[in-house]
Amino acid sequence: MQIATLSSGQGQRSFVALLDSDRGRYWPITDLVDGFDGDMVELIRAWESLAPQLQPRGEGYPLTDARLEAPIHPHRNMFCVGKNYYEHATEFSNSGFDSSAQAGEVVPEHPIVFTKAYSTLIADGDEIPRHAGVTSQLDYEAEFAVIIGKGGRGIKKADAFQHVWGYTIANDVTARDLQKKHRQWHLGKSLDGLCPLGPWITTADAIDPGNATIRCWVNGELRQESNTGLLIFDIPTLIETLSAGIELKPGDVILTGTPVGVGIGFDPPRFLDTGDVVRIEVDGMGVLENAVGK
Ligand code: MG
Repeated sequence: MQIATLSSGQGQRSFVALLDSDRGRYWPITDLVDGFDGDMVELIRAWESLAPQLQPRGEGYPLTDARLEAPIHPHRNMFCVGKNYYEHATEFSNSGFDSSAQAGEVVPEHPIVFTKAYSTLIADGDEIPRHAGVTSQLDYEAEFAVIIGKGGRGIKKADAFQHVWGYTIANDVTARDLQKKHRQWHLGKSLDGLCPLGPWITTADAIDPGNATIRCWVNGELRQESNTGLLIFDIPTLIETLSAGIELKPGDVILTGTPVGVGIGFDPPRFLDTGDVVRIEVDGMGVLENAVGK
C-alpha cells in the first residue's frame, strides 16, 4: 500500500491519502474512514483499527491535480546512521572529510548515530536550498528510510520488524565543509531544506527491506547503486540499538545510511551546485527527485 501526504485546491491544506502511483490516482483517507482528519503520524498511531477500511472506493482523484508534500512530519529529529555500507565507509575515510573516525579505523565497531533536524524536510520536486555563503561543499546521500509504527523501548532484533510501519526514500544532503569543521555532524546535516523525503511511504508488507536496490543519479549520471542487503548494521540492529534507551514512537524516521558514490568519493570531489538535479530510486518505492536551487 502507498500512503502520501498531498495538498490540493485553494488554501493548499495538506491531507493524507491512499495512493495508486501506477494509475496516478488517490483517495483521501478522510473519504475512506469516517471521522478521520489526522496527519500521517496520527494515521500510523491508529493504523491497526483503520487499515482494514483503506480500500479504494470509486475512481478517486488524479494525482496530477495534487501536490506531493513531504510524506511525514515526525515530532522530533530524524535518526540517521553514518558509514553503514563498507565501500562508502572506505570512500569517506579516504576523502579526508571524516573527522569522526578513530585513527586507522575505516568501518565502525558500532552504529554511528546522529540526528537531522526535522525542519530539514522537503518534498519530492522541491528545490534543495543552495546555501551559498554558508557552504561551498553541498553533497548528496541516497538512503533507504524506515518509518516506525508501533513504538517501544528495549526492542530486540528478533521483534524489530513488528515495529516497522513502512519505508520511503531520503536524500541526506550534507554540507561537507560544516560536517568536517564542526566535528559533530549535526550542523552540516541540518541546514534548512537538506532532507528531501518521499515521494510517499510504502507500507512494510509491500517491500523486502533486506533486498532493496537503491540508485542515485546526478544530472542523469548514475552515481550510486547498491542494495540494503549490504548494510553493515541491518535494520533490526539499528532498531535494537536506538530503542535500548530511547523509546521509539509512531512516526519516527530512521535514515539507514548511504552507499558508495557520494560527491566526496570522487577525486576531485564533485559537489552539488545550483541547477543540479538529484534523482533517487528504490524499486517499488517510486522516485525522489530534487533540483538544487539558488
Ligand atoms: Mg547519510
